[in-house]
Amino acid sequence: MDYGLTGKVAVVCGASAGMGRAVAEALAREGADLFLVARREDALAALSGELRRAHGVKVLFSAGDLARNEETSRILKEQFEAFGQADILVANAGGPPSGTFEAVSTEEMLRKGWELTFMSTVRMIRGILPGMRERKWGRIVAITSVSVFEPIPGLALSNAYRPGLTGLLKTIATEVAADGVTVNSVCPGYTATERLEELATATARREGRSAEDVSAEWASSIPAGHLGRPEEIAEAVTFLCSGAASYITGVALPVDGGRLKGLLA
Ligand code: NAD
Repeated sequence: MDYGLTGKVAVVCGASAGMGRAVAEALAREGADLFLVARREDALAALSGELRRAHGVKVLFSAGDLARNEETSRILKEQFEAFGQADILVANAGGPPSGTFEAVSTEEMLRKGWELTFMSTVRMIRGILPGMRERKWGRIVAITSVSVFEPIPGLALSNAYRPGLTGLLKTIATEVAADGVTVNSVCPGYTATERLEELATATARREGRSAEDVSAEWASSIPAGHLGRPEEIAEAVTFLCSGAASYITGVALPVDGGRLKGLLA
């Protein structure tokens, strides 16, 4: 199936590892030119070279902290100078600090989690959406979490901020649908990345057992029988970025191997 992505310009955030990296690989495979964002410059440089060589697409990058307003402004400026436009935005970054409400309720932690999990996406959308609307074509996909359907114990900040972001994405989706811009989110379940290793280690410490034990228990709780692979999440994101997904907007799509038990998730 031709996704119609050849020559489209995609901004992929959190692209140095995990699901963001897998999304960058999948979009490059489909012929999109890329602007990659994450904190680690060396990792972005290495990935850019790999993707250029493997797929012959244009790949540029900018390293910076998406939780910081001034860095996000610089990144957006560099992206515009490099490409003059963005057709696709994949909004993604690391998750907020894990912990129960008591563990993460200092003002500073609350603010940090908010900047990373909510404001980073808002700022990227603010910078990129006006051009999409003007050109009458755009795809925005945010990577959030199954926590928007079912709060996850020990992830108070994720449980708090991601549903708010989902509400805002739905609102924007409605406001810009007539301009050919779709706005959706993909909600991963347990997916085998560095972030999940961190969460397994934190849970193991709290519960006095090993991280391997925690990961194995999570994997066995999933009907599909395995932790998600980053590529499995990336395929869903890539479809939502495609021309084929033109009539899907305002959706929060769980990609979780059947983990959620609700009827409408
Ligand atoms: P990961 O830790 O493997 O990768 C995160 C990426 O984001 C890296 O490229 C990292 O450099 C980048 N990043 C982190 N903080 C950043 C910042 N402040 N500024 C710029 N870049 C930043 O994470 P992942 O597992 O791929 O998760 C992606 C998203 O999905 C996260 O929000 C995570 O909480 C969420 N999520 C993950 C899982 C899971 O099981 N892995 C499940 C549900 C939701």
